[in-house]
Amino acid sequence: MSQSKLPALILPIDPHSCAGGSPTRVRHLQLELAVDFTSHTLSGIATWQLVNPESATEIFFDVRDLTVEAVVTLDAAGAASETRYHLGPVHAVLGQALQVALPYGTAAVRITYRTSPTAAALQWLAPDQTAGTEPFLFTQSQAILARTWVPCQDSPGIRFTYEATVRVPAHLLALMSAENPQHLNSTGEYRFRMAQPIPSYLLALAVGDLAFAPLSHRTGVYAEPATLPGATAEFGDLEQMVKAAEQLYGPYRWERYDLLVLPPSFPFGGMENPRLTFVTPTILAGDRSLTSLVAHELAHSWSGNLVTNATWNDFWLNEGFTVYFERRIMEHLYGREYADMLQVLGNAALHHTITELGATSPDTHLRLDLAGRDPDEGLTEIAYEKGCAMLLTLESLIGRPRLDAFIKEYFTCFSFQAMDTATFLHYLRAELLDPEPGLEARLNLAAWVDGPGLPANAMVPSSALFGAVEQALARLAKGEAPATLLPRPADWSSHEWVHLLHGLPASLTVAQLGALDAVAGFTNSGNAEILMAWFSHTLRASYQPAEAAVEKFLRHVGRRKFLVPLYRALLATPNGLARARAIYAEARPNYHSVATGTLDALLGEPLAQH
Ligand SMILES: [Zn+2]
Repeated sequence: MSQSKLPALILPIDPHSCAGGSPTRVRHLQLELAVDFTSHTLSGIATWQLVNPESATEIFFDVRDLTVEAVVTLDAAGAASETRYHLGPVHAVLGQALQVALPYGTAAVRITYRTSPTAAALQWLAPDQTAGTEPFLFTQSQAILARTWVPCQDSPGIRFTYEATVRVPAHLLALMSAENPQHLNSTGEYRFRMAQPIPSYLLALAVGDLAFAPLSHRTGVYAEPATLPGATAEFGDLEQMVKAAEQLYGPYRWERYDLLVLPPSFPFGGMENPRLTFVTPTILAGDRSLTSLVAHELAHSWSGNLVTNATWNDFWLNEGFTVYFERRIMEHLYGREYADMLQVLGNAALHHTITELGATSPDTHLRLDLAGRDPDEGLTEIAYEKGCAMLLTLESLIGRPRLDAFIKEYFTCFSFQAMDTATFLHYLRAELLDPEPGLEARLNLAAWVDGPGLPANAMVPSSALFGAVEQALARLAKGEAPATLLPRPADWSSHEWVHLLHGLPASLTVAQLGALDAVAGFTNSGNAEILMAWFSHTLRASYQPAEAAVEKFLRHVGRRKFLVPLYRALLATPNGLARARAIYAEARPNYHSVATGTLDALLGEPLAQH
């Protein structure tokens, strides 16, 4: 069905932005930024070109923790006029509404401002927190943190193009989610252009001692010089990945696809900033075993960045499709058996999350209701793995060719637009479900979207490769020695080792852990996923040989997905609170606010009373 047969998408009101239903919107940003590593602030001038300025007498921007120094309006010829503006009350999560009066003839609004040293999107790293000898700055704007470094209409349903001029110390390189330089220049001034419209959460900036290595004519990797050779080797398949993705769901629409490897404090695995995915160095496993994360961020170039969740309640539309797409890319590159392992691990994570959230929790629905809450709370495996499980179940009902044709058409039809759950369901019914009576009931669509837990018809993924792991687990359970039945570390992929570790009983003794460690070398693994699965056992059993490795990991790595379960496991040990707090006190400056926001709540004062 062509888009013209659909009702025009009326954006739902976004509970996390004051930009709201007005037809007067931003359409283009001219940004000037000066980066000050001494005061940990950005000084900026944001000039927003508007659509339909004549249809309203005022416009609203989201700001948080910003000092607004001046606001003027510009007419079509660029002449500036003073205007009235007002900052609303401060909300801890949402920040403030900046209300700007629009005199007749206004074409643009120019806001002069400064960020706060505590701006939540910005992480300022001292040289000793990097792999090199220079300071580093990076942003993380998703979900609603762009407003802490740029006054903006901070709703994923609102898109704009941008250009920027960024001034940095002359020996550092600046990069954005835009056309990027590949070399240092002598002035420290860099110009950027983003010709494709993006939502504010995809605004991104990184500044540091960065070098570039090309991987193909349109792909490459940026990293600190010490990290660059390892990163170049790890991501050798990048062009193949882009080609595989294009074969599945149509052309890559953003021209270049580069990666930026950040210092370890980056709070996420990756962030799909357009043209320049930000990735954690924890995926530099040395054997390309964790590059499914790159396939995930690449897949976002279609699901998320081209077709974007209209509000954070619709986050599953970004992530569910992306996980499904990511595994299809991995299958294309490494075969069905490899992708099946990822599917089984994802399914295990989903069941774990449902148990944690509670099987009847509304937070286990695909369509969320995050009004009045921090949208970060919707960032659970539900959006990712339950969303993917729904698509897998649909695939099992209609076959791959039909699902692939549907997804490709969906991405094409709604490119550079927002999508909410209601409109998606309308499209899904019109394209796939309604023409085949009974299909919607067999899919159990309502139970997936607005029901708790996992519907009974969910596909249960299985993995042939994990069969050998499960045999090993059964023999270990009978008391056989690890040395006689486990292969050498290199004979299994990290996924097989992680599956083994997940399958081991929680009651292992120190002696049993020692025997496993001697064969598989878990404590000294360079693979972050293996370490995570291993530490859950070693902490429970107070296995001393791994204690130093746990502490080193917590001090070094800022990825929230790892930190939260590790600190939780530490808290459950004897004297765990004191130890966790001592490590946290030291490590906290290495973590981004996205991680400390969660960990402060976990390790904060109220715990001391228990
Ligand atoms: Zn994602």
